[in-house]
Amino acid sequence: MDVTEHVESVYAELRRRDPGESEFHQAAAEVLHDLEPALRKHPEYVDARIVERLCEPERQLVFRIPWTDDRGEVRVNRGFRVEFSSALGPYKGGLRFHPSVDLGTVKFLGFEQIFKNALTGMPLGGGKGGADFDPKGKSDGEIMRFCQSFMTELHRSLGEHTDVPAGDIGVGSREIGYLFGQYKRITNRHEAGTLTGKSVAWGGSHVRTEATGYGVVYFLQEMLATRGRSLEGQRVVVSGSGNVAIYAVEKASALGATVLACSDSVGYLVDEDGIDPELLKEIREVRGQRLPAYAEARPNARFVESGSVFDVPCDVALPCATQNELNREHALTLVKNEVFAVAEGANMPCTAEAIEAFREAGVLFGPGKAANAGGVATSALEMQQNASRETWTFERAEERLATIMRDVHARCRATAESYGGASHDYVFGANIAGFLRTADAMVAQGLV
Ligand code: GLU
Repeated sequence: MDVTEHVESVYAELRRRDPGESEFHQAAAEVLHDLEPALRKHPEYVDARIVERLCEPERQLVFRIPWTDDRGEVRVNRGFRVEFSSALGPYKGGLRFHPSVDLGTVKFLGFEQIFKNALTGMPLGGGKGGADFDPKGKSDGEIMRFCQSFMTELHRSLGEHTDVPAGDIGVGSREIGYLFGQYKRITNRHEAGTLTGKSVAWGGSHVRTEATGYGVVYFLQEMLATRGRSLEGQRVVVSGSGNVAIYAVEKASALGATVLACSDSVGYLVDEDGIDPELLKEIREVRGQRLPAYAEARPNARFVESGSVFDVPCDVALPCATQNELNREHALTLVKNEVFAVAEGANMPCTAEAIEAFREAGVLFGPGKAANAGGVATSALEMQQNASRETWTFERAEERLATIMRDVHARCRATAESYGGASHDYVFGANIAGFLRTADAMVAQGLV
């Protein structure tokens, strides 16, 4: 069978079957496009229809989440869990609570997760979930009741050997706590390894909170080192100001970079003195305020409501907010301002056209499924600690994270080269490396 035709027919079929799922189409197109050299080298993957099988989730759950708000009114949201692939381990991936969440979003995230998790080298399958619930402006009681209702339905599908959710946008350690509490109550099992991102006080891992942001910066460090550069003195721009952004700012600053800007959904913050990670954390996480409060507290900081954070000239850009936040125009502005490297902290923050613009301009580009793999990798470390009933020190967990990110980086480069690409083509390397590990397991496990 002609490999190009095979891949094209799989892509056409998934678009035909699920016409409304544009983000899933985008995520699939990016991967499928890169797989041809692997399929040529391994005809057994084509015979076993690995690509076709990988594009179809093993199981998709869509469910009703009824809950009552503080006025006693009944509210109904929609919940999702897409159990995409269990070839390498239990389904693993976060939960996103955001009004934009629909099945297509969860499928794109779950699909990416398969390759990301495989790339870490750890025993993790791929999945993702969430709800179209908007946590903004909700009271603590409302969040708890929502999480309890969500888990009342989802608990029957979970388990430390079956499906292990964690956080994502809108789901942090508070939500994981409420979800875990309800899981424990219903099942009567303190099965710590069923959820990751737990608080360190009761089964969580040190560094899990910081892991995605720190991991992005470790990956970036490796990318820069291939060109003889370090983070020292680099001007960095980060988008977003949530969990990933905050810890990317913290680690980049600690390694000598000046982080000039970050953003929220209303605008962006510029601090010519370099963003102070402690103040940012205090404002966003402790006080729950927005970025203008930071600008008021620092002499050389300003909050800008028009334009984009990517207008700020920089050497390194770290998109850490959400999917498709960085388009071709933003990419061209960054290129014009001589950006040197871009690493994705969020999942699919750059559009396909933006990635193309970076590629054409020779900008080093680290895709999310490699650069932001530190979060899920540290979830695997949390599962490991739960299984052995141990708690590692912060230093030990961080050292493991740093090693994993170095390995992910090396794996991307080596795989890209051995399949005929350039070693700095991290997109190609990540796609092929993630695919090979999953595909080999699928062939070995037969037609299931
Ligand atoms: N939501 C994170 C991601 O996109 C983490 C998933 C996890 O820890 O399971 O990779």
